[in-house]
Amino acid sequence: MSENTIFIEFHEALAKLSHSQDFINDNRERKLTLLTELVSRLLNAGRVSVWQLNTARNQITSEILFVAKPGSTTGTVDTTSSVLNSTDNPAYFEALTTARVIDASSARSDPRTQAFTKGYFDVLDIHSLLDAPIFDGSRLSGVVCIESHTLRRWTLPEISFVIAIADTISLINTHDNWQRSQRQLDYVTHYDSLTGLPNLQSIRERLTQLIRKSRTDDQRRITLIWIDLDRLKTVNDGLGATAGNMIIAEIANRLRSLYVKGRDKLARIGGDEFALLLRNAESDCTVSDALQRIQSCINEPIHVENRTVSMTASVGVCHYPVDGQDGEALLRSGETAMYHAKSSGRAQIQYFNADIDTSARSRFVLESELRNAIRERQLEVYYQPIMDTKTGRFVSNEALVRWHHPERGWLSPIEFLDVARNAGLMLELGNAVIERVCEHRREAARRKQPMAPTAVNLASEQVLDDQLAHKIGKTLRQYGVNGNELHFEVTEDAIKGDSNTLKTSLNALVALGCQLSIDDFGTGYSSLSRLKHLPFSKLKIDRSFIQDIPADKDDCAITLSILGLARGLGMQVVAEGVETEAHKHWLEAEGCDHLQGYLFSRPLPFEQLLQSFPVAADALS
Ligand code: C2E
Ligand code: CA
Ligand code: CA
Repeated sequence: MSENTIFIEFHEALAKLSHSQDFINDNRERKLTLLTELVSRLLNAGRVSVWQLNTARNQITSEILFVAKPGSTTGTVDTTSSVLNSTDNPAYFEALTTARVIDASSARSDPRTQAFTKGYFDVLDIHSLLDAPIFDGSRLSGVVCIESHTLRRWTLPEISFVIAIADTISLINTHDNWQRSQRQLDYVTHYDSLTGLPNLQSIRERLTQLIRKSRTDDQRRITLIWIDLDRLKTVNDGLGATAGNMIIAEIANRLRSLYVKGRDKLARIGGDEFALLLRNAESDCTVSDALQRIQSCINEPIHVENRTVSMTASVGVCHYPVDGQDGEALLRSGETAMYHAKSSGRAQIQYFNADIDTSARSRFVLESELRNAIRERQLEVYYQPIMDTKTGRFVSNEALVRWHHPERGWLSPIEFLDVARNAGLMLELGNAVIERVCEHRREAARRKQPMAPTAVNLASEQVLDDQLAHKIGKTLRQYGVNGNELHFEVTEDAIKGDSNTLKTSLNALVALGCQLSIDDFGTGYSSLSRLKHLPFSKLKIDRSFIQDIPADKDDCAITLSILGLARGLGMQVVAEGVETEAHKHWLEAEGCDHLQGYLFSRPLPFEQLLQSFPVAADALS
């Protein structure tokens, strides 16, 4: 057989195995067993093993060893771990980190492997070795090792095959890391770390479920009780934040063990706020009984720091369906009722009713003001510079919308984006931002003051608009801006739907020359296979994961797994919310590509960006 035919035969066998549904669903040990067995059979090799590098990078440990029965295609699998140290075998470790493959045909005299002769090759009667390092992205993570009992010269098809096996294992690693980080993320996104209670996100999801259920069953009542501790701030100021946390944890425990009829879910939804859901609390008497129990369990004295304090809570109550047709509306009613309770003094209970919905009216005013502001082009855009860790240069910036409200002054997006979303204004707002950015870029070009590319945030409403790329293309032409001057950021949430419009939209933006990033990464749910099929070139790690780095080990682990995942997918990583030197050092050391945050600069008005972060003309390619 020609080398070509053998080459094709090998790769076909690997593709057939690794794409089979059984293989994909198998666990890691089974996958490695099947791979080593395949290598042993096709290459007629006596021993095939997979080794893992430790985090200190000075030791490899065998994970699986397939030993062929002499004269047979079957064999046995051994999963006991043996260990090799870099100090005993420096030449071999050096080769692992630098070579794509170690093809030691005469293993006993090859400088890279001869150190193994006495204690290993002699004992096991090994003459030739073919090893391929496994790289997860650019980082060495292990090695596939083929050992032969006869002296043999490794052929090109054999060498290329063992490299393909190493790549396959690297993909398995990426997928395993991914699943591990998903499990961590699931915990982080659904639970509160101080009390171990579910958080606001879980109660949202639970409400959606319950409401869906009650629509299909007959209309069953759901009760939301919103509990806000009174004057926790006074405690924090007087006894310190630790005492404050102890009080929250104690009250969480009491509420957790409280018996309440129809009780469904308890969550900590904010600093000193809890929510309790009740199901089928048909009579008001059940609800008021529950409220009484809640109040008295909170009132019971708490001992902290050699003191005894007594807490009270303001409580808002509302019901589905009368006080809100969906989860968000119900949460809003609960909060409104709680605020009302609070404003009438401490330890009050307020049931929601239409008369107290004053904030809804003010929200409505804001809505029409915002609509006008968009149409009259009163929205402004600020820019926050983004640094490249390799060069220390500011290579791009993010456009962040601002609204100068005639009475309230400068408003940040968190204060008006929800209003825009509820009023269906996100498309218009998004277009206004892109237009303003292009206008600025045209002005910068006119003054011959180059501007680094600008990343613009896209709302999910925009990504799902099938005219998106067409509109953007038109704006670019109108202002004489090139596609590669704009990047777009899309949140994980916005791409969770599986629509063709989404894919077409994103591809059309790339065709205009724009780069795409996934924003707030880590806070939503993306599947690895979907990410691979969408044209993103960057991941932005959400600020919430950066905040407590390097002290918080969970956050470090999550950030590391995101970095690893991005490497595996060939994507660059931007960390946002970099506020301290410690953040910067840690992220740089772990190989994060870009950094953004208050440490470098707050978002700046256009003129100030040009002044404070000028771009050398030669810096833009
Ligand atoms: P984002 O996309 O995650 O933007 C980053 C936010 O983090 C910005 O808040 C920025 O000012 C803030 N930030 C930057 N560095 C730091 C830091 O070191 N520490 C802290 N604590 N914060 C930092 P901003 O401008 O208030 O924007 C909030 C969000 O509003 C953005 O979050 C984005 O989701 C959304 N947004 C802003 N502009 C637009 C827009 O034009 N269109 C759309 N659809 N959304 C926008
Ligand atoms: Ca963003
Ligand atoms: Ca973010």
